[in-house]
Amino acid sequence: MYYTSGKFFERWIDMNDLLSAERKTEIAQQARKLLIEHNEATLPIDPFSLAGKLGLEVRYGEMLGNSIGELKGSTIIIDERLKNDSPLSRCVLMHEIAHHQLQHGNANKNNAHTKAEIEANFFAIEALMPEPFVRKALEIYNSQKRETVFDSLEEYIMYMFNVTERKARQRLMGFNYAA
Ligand SMILES: [Zn+2]
Repeated sequence: MYYTSGKFFERWIDMNDLLSAERKTEIAQQARKLLIEHNEATLPIDPFSLAGKLGLEVRYGEMLGNSIGELKGSTIIIDERLKNDSPLSRCVLMHEIAHHQLQHGNANKNNAHTKAEIEANFFAIEALMPEPFVRKALEIYNSQKRETVFDSLEEYIMYMFNVTERKARQRLMGFNYAA
């Protein structure tokens, strides 16, 4: 599941602590391996192409409640209202691919569910913004070449990786970047 609202992702930093350093490394490696194996390690990462290679059917449909993405077997449904929002569609799709790759079973409302959501979010960040590319992006940004074009590092990351502002921010938090 990928939710539009609620406090869930607002509490990202605290939640992020629920994953051990070991588990984070494991997930990051799994995400990177997936991109390399499927020859999808060029920017911007294309989750639609990746889903196809994994045999996952992606379609837009009407969603209920706060959820804007769902994995059902080998089908991923994205809220039809996101059709015109590429960064959000991409993030939602990668999040659902993550549930598939991490073999999270049917989500239910308990601790395992919460953990699964955090893991999927973490995986999606690693897959859409792989560490080597982020390091390179930071280098370029810090060399001030882009200073006149982008207002902030967040904006630059959003542009480079075609992701939402929230995901860009979460990625930068992971890098302990102090603005
Ligand atoms: Zn989810």
